[in-house]
Amino acid sequence: MDKKELKKLKEKLFYKKENAFDVATEKEAKAVSEYAEGYKSFLDNAKTEREAVKEAIKMLSKEGFKEYKLGEKIEKGNKYYLNNRDKSLFAFVAGTEDIEKGIRICAAHIDSPRLDLKQHPMFENEGFAYLKTHYYGGIRKYQWVTIPLALHGVVSTVDGENVEITIGEDENDPVFCITDLLPHLAREQSQKPLGTAHAGESLNLLIGSEPLDGATEDKVKFNMLKILNDRYGITESDFVSAELTAVPAGKARDLGLDRSMIAAYGHDDRVCSYPSLTAIMECKNSEHTIMCILADKEEIGSEGVSGMKCRLIVDLIEEISTNLGGNPNVVRANSMCLSADVSAGYDPMYPEVFEKRNSAIVNCGVVMNKYTGGGGKSSTNDASAEYVGHIRRIFKDAGVVWQTAELGKIDVGGGGTVAMYIANQNINTVDLGVAVLSMHAPLEVISKNDLYQTHKALVAFCK
Ligand code: MN
Ligand code: MN
Repeated sequence: MDKKELKKLKEKLFYKKENAFDVATEKEAKAVSEYAEGYKSFLDNAKTEREAVKEAIKMLSKEGFKEYKLGEKIEKGNKYYLNNRDKSLFAFVAGTEDIEKGIRICAAHIDSPRLDLKQHPMFENEGFAYLKTHYYGGIRKYQWVTIPLALHGVVSTVDGENVEITIGEDENDPVFCITDLLPHLAREQSQKPLGTAHAGESLNLLIGSEPLDGATEDKVKFNMLKILNDRYGITESDFVSAELTAVPAGKARDLGLDRSMIAAYGHDDRVCSYPSLTAIMECKNSEHTIMCILADKEEIGSEGVSGMKCRLIVDLIEEISTNLGGNPNVVRANSMCLSADVSAGYDPMYPEVFEKRNSAIVNCGVVMNKYTGGGGKSSTNDASAEYVGHIRRIFKDAGVVWQTAELGKIDVGGGGTVAMYIANQNINTVDLGVAVLSMHAPLEVISKNDLYQTHKALVAFCK
């Protein structure tokens, strides 16, 4: 064979990972940065699952989606959303084709690791007032000290009132923080393994230091409770029925001189929730029945009424099926799902935990994880070759830049997504999403290219 033939044959036989920068047209490059602006404002307005549900409903309503409640009528060609207790959301388009052809589902989660307040959080110690926290999801505790934190959430009072609280996001708001030792006196702490240097019980939020005028005991705590009562009408007992959480304060920012990346809190998994939403909105006139699920509780095991293990997905598919004249068992068997969740981006600063050949490379497009789980493929939905092949064809036809990956080296760690809970309902499912650096840290990093390719992939899937 001559050189030219060999080159041609090599191109045919070898797999080559594409980089979005190498293949993107000028037009697409413009779309990438425009799309990122919409995503950043979603990030800023949706730091908790409740805020994400609210923001999503706002976006969907503008596109003509109407609220649907279980038991109501569903008609072909109409667009709906089911708001599950303000904490998770199912948006769907009832397609005009035979419902027994199945539903195309994009499922992402809208909860992120953070510091939840305990039910009896407030105490005073040596002139300072604090709030005790119980961290939510997998965090590396040392990352959450000495950063500005904002308080978000709701308080449900005994009178049945729901009080919404957000403190620390407006530029004029105060913020909160967890203090740490000064290096001068941290000799002992610095010798401890990273995971034990800060105990869960030491993640206490500093919230004030001024005593209430005239008070004789618990003077600072007294003042804090008075401030909260003056502003929100709540008392200490109300913390019992509250969901208040401390999250990193501040807005999403472009990262890098070239602005090619975004640094923000909560990319996992808003970086897939947002494309799932924009995909269903872009395909709102599809003949297929399509669904976008924004789930809660993924970070702590998908349990409970707002998590993906809840049978609501089965109930809703049953409602859709019977309303549109199909057998729900057949509908589920013919449905397909992309579990849209993030992947661990290959970090050249920490190459030792990755097997590069099977890692998610930033800027190389949307990442498919055929399986997640831990060593030995434990606790994972391992998608079938046929299903992966099917998705491959869709991406090829749509010109999606994509790659496959595992979550780091075998036996180094592992992780899960909602994929297996959906697959357990007899729905073909595979994981797909964006590569993230510093996942679960207060400041996570993604590339705008990968974000855009995810939107593109989900649109191609819904179409
Ligand atoms: Mn996730
Ligand atoms: Mn996560």
